[in-house]
Amino acid sequence: MNYLTQTRSNNPTYTTFTDAILDPNADLGGLYTFANITSFQDFSWLKEANYTQICRKVFSQLGIIESLATTGHSHIESALQSYESFRHPQIAPLIQIARNLYCLELYHGPTFAFKDMALQPFSHLLDSLAKEQKQKYLILSATSGDTGPATLHGFANSTNIRAICIYPSGGTSEVQRLQMTTHTAPNLKVFGIHGNFDTAQSALKSLLNKQSFRERLSRKGYALSAANSVNIGRIAFQIVYYFVIAREMFKQGIKKFDVIVPSGNFGNALAGFFARELGVPITKLCIACNPNDILSEFFNTGVYDLRNKTLVTSFSPAMDILKSSNIERLLFAYFGAEKTKQYMESLDTERIFSLTKEELAQLQTVFEARSFSDTACLEGINQAFKEHYMLDPHTSNAYLFAKLRTNTLPTQEAQVILSTAYFAKFAKATFKALKGGDSKRMDALDDLHTLQEIQQEIRTNINPNFALESEILSLFGKKEIHTSIYQVADLEEEILHFCV
Ligand SMILES: *Cc1c(COP(=O)(O)O)cnc(C)c1O
Repeated sequence: MNYLTQTRSNNPTYTTFTDAILDPNADLGGLYTFANITSFQDFSWLKEANYTQICRKVFSQLGIIESLATTGHSHIESALQSYESFRHPQIAPLIQIARNLYCLELYHGPTFAFKDMALQPFSHLLDSLAKEQKQKYLILSATSGDTGPATLHGFANSTNIRAICIYPSGGTSEVQRLQMTTHTAPNLKVFGIHGNFDTAQSALKSLLNKQSFRERLSRKGYALSAANSVNIGRIAFQIVYYFVIAREMFKQGIKKFDVIVPSGNFGNALAGFFARELGVPITKLCIACNPNDILSEFFNTGVYDLRNKTLVTSFSPAMDILKSSNIERLLFAYFGAEKTKQYMESLDTERIFSLTKEELAQLQTVFEARSFSDTACLEGINQAFKEHYMLDPHTSNAYLFAKLRTNTLPTQEAQVILSTAYFAKFAKATFKALKGGDSKRMDALDDLHTLQEIQQEIRTNINPNFALESEILSLFGKKEIHTSIYQVADLEEEILHFCV
């Protein structure tokens, strides 16, 4: 299979992987996706394979390398070089935290969030393609906190690409904000805006769809692309780490496992589904949600209903999402283009769609889902801490789900939670969980002091030598470059002004 298909079209459109990542908006209103994935029959190669070798093997099975034309190999090689900036030699280490419970740590990339797993190689790939095409690109992204730093880091100093991040002012953690505003590379720009993440996301979408904006950019020599998980390129890189889990499990003689994914836009879990299609022996994919419980409602009732939902802000902001873009690709994989089109159009116009009983039953053979309150989230961090493992608030939701399932699980079956961020990015929530501090006192402490108190706490309780990563602490001493906060209405002119 060398071509991608579109989720709302019955006629295969034969878009190559290159075209889909350079211009992720499918012309029939849907998304590009993989179709007819062929499973590996043999996994003997996996035992000795390291992270980048797994990636080459998976991309070749998906037809991606051929689809990148004759120079495919060199593009992939330059993408894979980005893993050299990761702090852990295994890239994504699997840690055992209890009997039959493991954690795949996806936060050892340069910005301490799982977004690095895909955005680092993805940005290098895009840069390499842009150079080959001798085309300049403007990459836009909206962020609730983790996508922004990873995108900026990935594209910093890339010659043919300018990257812009739009974030809601006041809507990210202090560490996340500094990871963006202190960037010095001349091809990067960060716009804080007045509004929440939805405001930022809609501003991004309307610019991406605005013809006159594209034309003005094009007169300046720029093509427009986006780096959110609507881009199939990001999903592709995320499939790889599910094979890492399999490799480690096979080494221990474990043949089947369940994976629990802290979910928001459903990109991570969808990559797990594709890995399962490729033969990774995942029994269940479990979707952990925060108080924004639309996905858990969907997988438990078959109804995706936006009508009575309002977004609530939680301790796990990267999961504060109601319109989960990648559900569309799951619908396509199970029910085909016609049904997907019908359901997604119904979501747009009626703000609801409902699966049939049979369709729901099909999904439930693979998926389970649950949502957890903010109070539970803090308890999860605290409970894991007592078991000598530090969780960030996103991962805590997955941990709680695993703990709930433990009793009903056959003794041979292992559970793996995916850890999506380093806890120190979320100092306030972690502090509150460990010290039970009331929020009034926390407001008075700035994040640096909060982090230092957490460091003390961990030293005394877990590890006498524990030190926070110096890259995080040093952010507080850096000069902030991108300090202005903008009105959404002014973004277009500001962006054009930046694209010289
Ligand atoms: C983005 C993100 C998630 C959600 O991942 P999706 O692929 O959008 O479901 C969870 N946790 C963290 C820390 C994230 O940055």
